[in-house]
Amino acid sequence: MKRFILFCILIIIIGIFFFYFEPFFEDTLPCLREYDYPTCLHKYINYLIANKSGNCYIEFNESYFPEIYEKRNISVNVYLGNTSLNDKNIVNLFKQINNVWNNYGINFSLNNIDESKTKEYIDMINVDCQISLITERLNKYFNFSDNINIHLVILGLPNVKGGCHINPSYHVITVSTEADNLTWVIIHELGHAIGLCDKALYSGEINMMTHNGCITEKYPTNLGKKQVETILNNQREKCH
Ligand SMILES: [Zn+2]
Repeated sequence: MKRFILFCILIIIIGIFFFYFEPFFEDTLPCLREYDYPTCLHKYINYLIANKSGNCYIEFNESYFPEIYEKRNISVNVYLGNTSLNDKNIVNLFKQINNVWNNYGINFSLNNIDESKTKEYIDMINVDCQISLITERLNKYFNFSDNINIHLVILGLPNVKGGCHINPSYHVITVSTEADNLTWVIIHELGHAIGLCDKALYSGEINMMTHNGCITEKYPTNLGKKQVETILNNQREKCH
């Protein structure tokens, strides 16, 4: 009996040790995004401790810039709805977006701006980030049949503070002009469209792919080595 108890204790200790360093959180809530990257118990505990005292959990902030020999051009169609933004604003916006993404070998080239719905109220209430609901609603207003890599929908949506990247058979990004930092939100969502997942708040790393939380004043535009390699290899990871 004594031996059995000792054996059990040993198994529990090994189990805790294993999970302490082994990533085990999976992407179970794609739209909340905090689970896109697996993490290990010690990081999660550090995150909870920091969070409890109102701090951010940041262990490292890696900035990796690759040597770029040739930029990859990715075409984007922009669709405007219920907003006073015009084509000049969008051209300017893309300059800022490319200022960031050119560092990583990507150039988002503006193919077409659809301004036909700028004065129309776009009803996106109660869709959250649900792919099927968003797709259904957007298809009422816009035509995404163009054979273009990415469709970026910029909408004046009262009370919506961010954006979503939805990925059915084509890449559609929707963002609200009420986002705290519209340019940064688009830069972030474009990261998803080219294959990057979110950085969980408990990853201990703050960069371009981290969601809200710790990002309040400074909006980071750096990426880590692994993220840059993902982009350069163009390997899409499973994320939304
Ligand atoms: Zn995200």
